[in-house]
Amino acid sequence: MSGVSANGPDLLAPLPKPFTRLGLHIAADLLLHFPLRHEDETHLTPMRDLRPGLVQQVQGRVIRCDTTYRGRRQLQVTIEDDCGRVVLRFLHVYPGQAQRMAVGNLLRVSGEVRSGLLEVEMVHPRWRVVTEDTPLPDCLTPVYPVCAGVSQTMIRRLTDRLLMHPDWDDTVPEPVRERYGLAGFAESVLALHRPGPATLPQQAQDKSAPAWRRICFDELLAQQLVLHQARMRRTRLGTAPMPGGGALSRTLLQRLPFALTAAQQRVWQEIRDDLARPVPMQRLLQGDVGSGKTIVAALAAAQAIDCGFQAAFMAPTELLAEQHYRKLCEWFEPMGVQVQWLSGSLAARRRAAVVAALADGTAQLVAGTHALFQDEVGFARLGLAVVDEQHRFGVTQRLALRHKGQMPHQLMMSATPIPRTLAMSYHADLDVSLIDELPPGRTPVVTRLVADGRRGEVVDWLRSRCQAGAQAYWVCPLIEESETLQLQTAIDTHAMLQQMLPQFRVGLLHGRMRPADKASVMAAFAHGEIALLVATTVIEVGVDVPNASLMVIEHAERMGLAQLHQLRGRVGRGAARSACLLLYREPLSELADARLRVIAGSTDGFHVAREDLRLRGPGEWLGARQSGAPLLRFADPLADVALVESAREAAGWMLRETPGLAAGHIARWFGARQEYGLA
Ligand code: ADP
Ligand code: MG
Repeated sequence: MSGVSANGPDLLAPLPKPFTRLGLHIAADLLLHFPLRHEDETHLTPMRDLRPGLVQQVQGRVIRCDTTYRGRRQLQVTIEDDCGRVVLRFLHVYPGQAQRMAVGNLLRVSGEVRSGLLEVEMVHPRWRVVTEDTPLPDCLTPVYPVCAGVSQTMIRRLTDRLLMHPDWDDTVPEPVRERYGLAGFAESVLALHRPGPATLPQQAQDKSAPAWRRICFDELLAQQLVLHQARMRRTRLGTAPMPGGGALSRTLLQRLPFALTAAQQRVWQEIRDDLARPVPMQRLLQGDVGSGKTIVAALAAAQAIDCGFQAAFMAPTELLAEQHYRKLCEWFEPMGVQVQWLSGSLAARRRAAVVAALADGTAQLVAGTHALFQDEVGFARLGLAVVDEQHRFGVTQRLALRHKGQMPHQLMMSATPIPRTLAMSYHADLDVSLIDELPPGRTPVVTRLVADGRRGEVVDWLRSRCQAGAQAYWVCPLIEESETLQLQTAIDTHAMLQQMLPQFRVGLLHGRMRPADKASVMAAFAHGEIALLVATTVIEVGVDVPNASLMVIEHAERMGLAQLHQLRGRVGRGAARSACLLLYREPLSELADARLRVIAGSTDGFHVAREDLRLRGPGEWLGARQSGAPLLRFADPLADVALVESAREAAGWMLRETPGLAAGHIARWFGARQEYGLA
């Protein structure tokens, strides 16, 4: 993008400091800072036609202006035209405001109409003093996202100046525009900031209109270019090939008490092939909760170790890392492999010993939390890094892996199923393997919604089932505002249930416990000594106790669908018929009701994911900030699959044919963010 357009303002000029809060750094960034919506101020509504709920504009003379005290100070102004009255209320009043709204002044006011006690009213409308002949605008008025220190007026004035000289470069070359039928960049930008005279506010937001389509394409294109580049950079990096066929992976397979499912065999083949190539693997292994991803990763580790490399398993919680450690010991120690454990809570002496063993290569396999990837931890020959529940890790934690000496092969695992288009959009730099079947003999978990008032019946039911030898989880509610409160609730619930079920041992597990205590509670539960385990959501990921077949989740309406699905995945792992009761507190909002119905109606993670996406939009599901890919502001990959495909194709073409434009395009979209390593 050229810095100065022919005779217009300098596009590279830095913006004042407060703009950075909006992610805007230079003038050019404003081009892509589109209005949230537009308001129609092109005509006045006679006051008798005001309708509560609508945003409308009126003009009238002030007939009263009072400061009142209704609980707190407020300014109340009544205006009148020749057919009606409106009361304006202001809770925040600036000095001089009352004078400007003095009786007799003519005000033009626009805001949401509400029905007041006697007259209709507007709370904090936009207003200004006008005269009889102040003209009405002939276009819609844009409403921009703003923040402290950046007002609507400032943005309007700056964009007005920029938009006066719409001669910005089009970073999408002619052949691409033609092929996908795209509107020009400048005309699109102009149309979105300042829609033409006859446009209606809802038309200005129509994402299928040519201008929006072009901008969404550009955004997807920028994302695809960046991810393409990441992939190309990776394939240029060499790494040591680790061919299969070694003794360790064969022995491990032979000793397993089960046979791999066809899906596990297929993904294992894909991973073996990757490992054998001299290019660092970056593979995402997806599989629903309980589909058996761990053993596949263990086989990959065996192959790396067979070839003389070290392998590391990283998990997002201590509990899960610890569980991996135990599993890996069980599988690998009989074969003479040195397995280690590293977490933030290890005593200094022990930690130093583990760090030394990793550095000199005596430790061949290690499980741990992100403590594994802190600076002082060095590996002698790290060949494979397995990142479990990858969506739980931040970008930086994942990137830190790449700086560990040599570029290791990476296997990321996730039970969060991402529909194909989203995967294509957000994970275009990764290869994806999918385990799409569960091990045989599982019975689907029966899920029921139960109103909280029937808690007594639930406890009776648990009593009789535990008497018959079943084991159960009782999951305490998520209390986001306060960890202390959450902890207290868990402790209280534990005491209450122990009292109601004196014949059983009731265990307690929460995030604040010492790791050793957590481990011993988990061990007692795994050995069947604890019948009922009261837990906070720490058990959400990965916990694997096959004999546990019942789960009660309190306040299920507060949890996300992905979280509920993960939690429920803790049961239904053995042959026993499993059940999950979702306790909810009434009244349920419409959305909460819809979501609980989804989870109760299906045990298929992909179905749940799709429905969740439909109900909430992709950002939240992906934990967008954590997805490791630049966020999308405008485009919705789910809504327009074809556009994602086009952007992907165009990105490949541009990197080959017009690399200069490709670079310009990335700079236009991610200019400032590149510094943060997001692009
Ligand atoms: P997830 O994919 O959720 O991480 P795990 O790897 O924890 O699932 O596996 C869930 C359970 O299924 C474990 O107890 C594991 O030993 C068992 N398992 C894995 N693969 C098979 C298989 N092919 N047949 C039977 N059980 C299996
Ligand atoms: Mg797992």
